[in-house]
Amino acid sequence: MDAPAKIAVVGTGYVGLTTGACFAHLGHQVVCVDIDIDKVQRLSVGDVPIFEAGLAELVEEGLNTGRLAFVANTGVGVRDADFVYLCVPTPPSTDREGNADSSAGLVDLRALESAAREVGLHVRAGAVVVNKSTVPVGSARLVAKAMGRSDVTVVSNPEFLREGSAVSDFLFPDRVVIGATDRGAAQRVAKLHQRSAAPTIITDPATAETSKYAANAFLATKLSFVNTIAAVCEAVGANVADVLSVLGHDKRIGSECLTPGPGWGGSCFPKDTQALVRMAADAGYDYSLLRGVLAANDEQFNRVVNKVAAVVDLAGATIAMLGLAFKAGTDDTRNSPALAIAERLLAAGARVQAYDPAVTRVEGTNIALARDAYAACEGAEVLLVVTEWDEFKTLDVAHLAGVMSALNVVDARNIMDAEALLRHGFDYQCIGRG
Ligand code: NAD
Repeated sequence: MDAPAKIAVVGTGYVGLTTGACFAHLGHQVVCVDIDIDKVQRLSVGDVPIFEAGLAELVEEGLNTGRLAFVANTGVGVRDADFVYLCVPTPPSTDREGNADSSAGLVDLRALESAAREVGLHVRAGAVVVNKSTVPVGSARLVAKAMGRSDVTVVSNPEFLREGSAVSDFLFPDRVVIGATDRGAAQRVAKLHQRSAAPTIITDPATAETSKYAANAFLATKLSFVNTIAAVCEAVGANVADVLSVLGHDKRIGSECLTPGPGWGGSCFPKDTQALVRMAADAGYDYSLLRGVLAANDEQFNRVVNKVAAVVDLAGATIAMLGLAFKAGTDDTRNSPALAIAERLLAAGARVQAYDPAVTRVEGTNIALARDAYAACEGAEVLLVVTEWDEFKTLDVAHLAGVMSALNVVDARNIMDAEALLRHGFDYQCIGRG
């Protein structure tokens, strides 16, 4: 490796903490900054507040080697840095009442602007500021303007990591995208990733920014397509697993992201697809395909609710919900399908008893949290699987039959042992089988 770089990372969430810990692991000197003082204090003693495979170990390694530090002061964090990574949230904009709806697709760039302003006050001349947050076209210019520093270069470097495999995705990315008007700065950023041997695409900032939205929109489209094909399979009596196996063997399609489910969610796909629809509309293009993808996803949540309603009268029913995270391998419940479905069940008068191995609290809902899957099923008329955790695949079916008040399973991930459930007298519904 060339001489280690001095790197500052602003924002220590899923992206920033992974970025900081991985760069420290690769031998660089890293300071992570966050405005959340409590988080900084916890991280400084190796207490990682998020569930992400391998991340706690890398944070501990970085603290032990002295290559990773956490501070709450941006000035202190960035003043010696050669590279400053911006990894702050870019959530949907809300109106004054806090609703995202009236401003659908608009992106709240206040955290990015505020971080850039702070960085501009303290960063040294010649440094490169690298934006990893997902942002609409034009945001590289916005960062440069907020910094107000002609001696500092801004580069877009969208992040493609997936929660649940963030560390390995960062260390071994499929590709690295760098958008810059200054080729020299782009090459310097590319060098930080050369050990990964990933193809590197150096382009202009607008293209880099658009490519991140395009990637998420494509994946969301693939998932909505799978769920709509599953609906067709149910209607015509076909088996979605075999249909998707046929599709997955086609090299032009590929087998990744080809699994039916309760609908897609998470902190990125919903906001990023909506932002792309909006960005396109503002530029004069009606992105009707992507609007359809979003509508199909909302419909998928309803389809899951309807499957539960088909076996039990929702008013007064107790539903055991297995899974709250938006997918297995993370504790992130932001825009989780589980929460969207739970809200609809609650609105129809059901009681929801939920269990997720990685989620210990959910705020702002009437979901009752149980200590394990069996406790969630106690007295329930329907067991509903929404997150594909491995432990739900091997539940003791006899035990479930003993604690539930009626024997109904709606498996929105198609992961349970259908034969064992049927043997024990359960009614078993899943996605995409007639
Ligand atoms: P996050 O909410 O997990 O973390 C953001 C962190 O930034 C928080 O700790 C917050 O306290 C901190 N912060 C906010 N304002 C700050 C400021 N002015 N100065 C310093 N710290 C500040 O967010 P995330 O999931 O890591 O996402 C960050 C960005 O990366 C977003 O634009 C997101 O769309 C994008 N992204 C996320 C993922 C993902 O899987 N989570 C993947 C790729 C890209």
